[in-house]
Amino acid sequence: MRILVTGGAGFIGSHLCERLLSEGNEVICLDNFFTGRRQNVVGLQDYRSFEVVRHDVTEPILLEVDQIYNLACPASPIHYQYNPVKTVKTNVMGAINMLGLAKRVKARILQASTSEVYGDPLMHPQQESYWGNVNPIGIRSCYDEGKRLAETLMMDYHRQNGVDTRIARIFNTYGPRMLENDGRVVSNFVVQSLRGKDMTIYGEGLQTRSFCYVDDLVEGIFRLLLSNYTLPMNIGNPGEITIKEFAEEIIKLTGTTQKIIYQPLPKDDPKQRQPDITKAKEILKWDPKVSRAEGLKITYDYFKSLPKEVLYHRDHKSFEGFIK
Ligand code: NAD
Ligand code: UDP
Repeated sequence: MRILVTGGAGFIGSHLCERLLSEGNEVICLDNFFTGRRQNVVGLQDYRSFEVVRHDVTEPILLEVDQIYNLACPASPIHYQYNPVKTVKTNVMGAINMLGLAKRVKARILQASTSEVYGDPLMHPQQESYWGNVNPIGIRSCYDEGKRLAETLMMDYHRQNGVDTRIARIFNTYGPRMLENDGRVVSNFVVQSLRGKDMTIYGEGLQTRSFCYVDDLVEGIFRLLLSNYTLPMNIGNPGEITIKEFAEEIIKLTGTTQKIIYQPLPKDDPKQRQPDITKAKEILKWDPKVSRAEGLKITYDYFKSLPKEVLYHRDHKSFEGFIK
């Protein structure tokens, strides 16, 4: 198969490209390098069947492919809120362009959606049938509503044009190649430990998340694309934990003696999040395999192995050279 992975130089995309290449496929990694890095895919250049294209999904592109994974979109709040209008364009115009491509070449397409389509959920755990509790005008809306519209487009192209679509609702994912400066809780806590800085809990730390190791996630979306299931499907690890407990786990793992400090909770921060993965279990025979202890150890070792100038000097602001 010739497979297009948009956002292929990003965190999840680079692991997906690796997986698809190892299965003997040809892979085109398309990226505008906003939050992606060449470094993430440099190890894949040895594959003759691997190609990198610098392109922005908000512009159409002509390619001949059999399958498309549409992952292009910044995923962490500080990145998607940096240029919210661009985030909406990436989600909406990106989905239209990739669906147009899929329609022309009759490719199967999988959209990376998100647990954020459930907003601050009133149903717990979240099942795919839940329509969500989303603020349409808040600071997270560019991402949440952008992804919801991408889902709408998938379903409409499917019903109206017979495009072979898949929708993965991805829950919080972590692992090597996360950006050390993306402001997310996993990278923040681990990097703060390594830097000997205080650990920042937002709010009281009673909000919950459920963290999925990247290899499990990639296996889930890989199986979803190969299945015949065209409705949205949750892919995530149901192991739910409060952010306070999570901080304690990281302190135990890293053995540091740093303090926890409390900072204001960002606006519209969801209070609880846990995927119901009954559908993925039944239809894909998929279940996450990597425990949080194992996954966090691998992630910690990854961050520890980064060059000092990356780990110590790159902060949240370092992406601000990017054109708005
Ligand atoms: P990431 O930021 O590491 O990867 C996104 C990639 O898309 C980057 O390489 C970035 O440069 C690229 N990109 C952004 N805008 C683009 C554009 N306009 N044109 C071309 N490329 C563009 O994030 P990730 O964590 O790897 O997320 C991948 C996908 O999975 C995203 O669609 C995200 O919304 C979704 N997702 C991720 C998580 C998570 O916890 N990581 C959770 C839910 C959903
Ligand atoms: N969070 C925190 N300290 C940090 C970074 C994040 O307490 O240094 C909290 C954040 O407010 C949220 C949770 O951790 O409740 C997960 O945040 P993240 O940005 O990783 O993911 P998302 O909110 O998109 O699920």
